[in-house]
Amino acid sequence: MSTSAVALIRCSTYDEREVMDAVRSGIGLLGGIDAFAAADDRILLKPNVLAGDSPGSCVCTHPAILKAVGGLFRERVKAITCGDSPGHGDSGPSLTTAGLATVAEELGLGTADFDQGRQVDFPDSPQANRFLIANGVLAADGIVSLSKLKTHMVTRMTGAVKNLYGCIPGQTKRRYHYTHPNAFSFSQMLVALNLLLKPKVRLHIMDGVMAMEGNGPRNGDPVHVGVLLFSTDPVALDTVMCDLIELDPMRVPTSGPGRRWELGTYKKDEIEIVGDSLSSARPGGFKVKRGLVRDFSPQGMLARIDNLIAQRPVLDRRKCVRCGQCVLSCPVQPKALDWYKGNDKEPPKYTYNRCIRCYCCQEICPEGAISVKRTVLRL
Ligand code: SF4
Ligand code: SF4
Repeated sequence: MSTSAVALIRCSTYDEREVMDAVRSGIGLLGGIDAFAAADDRILLKPNVLAGDSPGSCVCTHPAILKAVGGLFRERVKAITCGDSPGHGDSGPSLTTAGLATVAEELGLGTADFDQGRQVDFPDSPQANRFLIANGVLAADGIVSLSKLKTHMVTRMTGAVKNLYGCIPGQTKRRYHYTHPNAFSFSQMLVALNLLLKPKVRLHIMDGVMAMEGNGPRNGDPVHVGVLLFSTDPVALDTVMCDLIELDPMRVPTSGPGRRWELGTYKKDEIEIVGDSLSSARPGGFKVKRGLVRDFSPQGMLARIDNLIAQRPVLDRRKCVRCGQCVLSCPVQPKALDWYKGNDKEPPKYTYNRCIRCYCCQEICPEGAISVKRTVLRL
């Protein structure tokens, strides 16, 4: 039986030297930089930018991680770019606010185009046969994914597998939410996207120095975990992430299709953890939804009943600044969240019977005004 190696390296702060030592150790344990890039490769570093929040908010991959990984690859490779497609707006401003553009400039990294893309057919895909992929991804020979350890309302956690969703440019990501309206079909699409990009992806690295628990992926609470994870297998890396926060990996709906379709493995006896001890790195009490994820969408009358009782996004009027980002992010037509009678002086209102629970609105709100709540009927 073949195993997937995941390197776990303790890293307690974003101190530049400490992060560089940890990155060097993690990559070293997996074969060293030469195993992941040839001198004439064009390498893309793909952090998690989401909406371009400041480093202290723990929404984006920390600039210190980009600096260390970029610095290390710079020792071997000349052509390195950096980019990600945020959930809202163009990539440039988001990279700047997240502190990543400054690091990219310091290291002389090129800017990858994540605002435009091209359709790529994937006839052998187990789920989606065509993806729009950002030009910056298509132009690269190899990708190094720099994910962030955070909670997510659809996929429970956003880790290595979910990070590649940002390879879909611009607002097209919303359409995929609409065409994959439940956690399982959305996760299957994510796995298919990972399979399409697998030949290019050289390495997955996860920033778990400071993670996000609770109302993630944008409005949760920062929590210290103090680790970096490294693997060529994104499913195995996400499984070790789950082990760290004591979450059953089968509660993360990319795990099952990830193994079934041979992207990687979530089975503990197929994963070898190298580096530091996992048990001593567990933070304990990490706040994440731990319930079952449903693998079907009810139809007809059952769908209507389910819509009434299923957990739902709820808007806190006191926190809302009426910026309208949530309205723009809603992928359904007519929108399930919109200005009431066009009045943008009041917070937007939900029409729950249209809502597909994609939680794009909760994810994008810059004020943390939207959270996911259970209804009274479903306790
Ligand atoms: S709920 Fe959030 S995203 Fe929506 S209008 Fe209010 S502040 Fe903006
Ligand atoms: S209201 Fe929010 S959760 Fe519902 S469909 Fe729109 S964006 Fe998705």
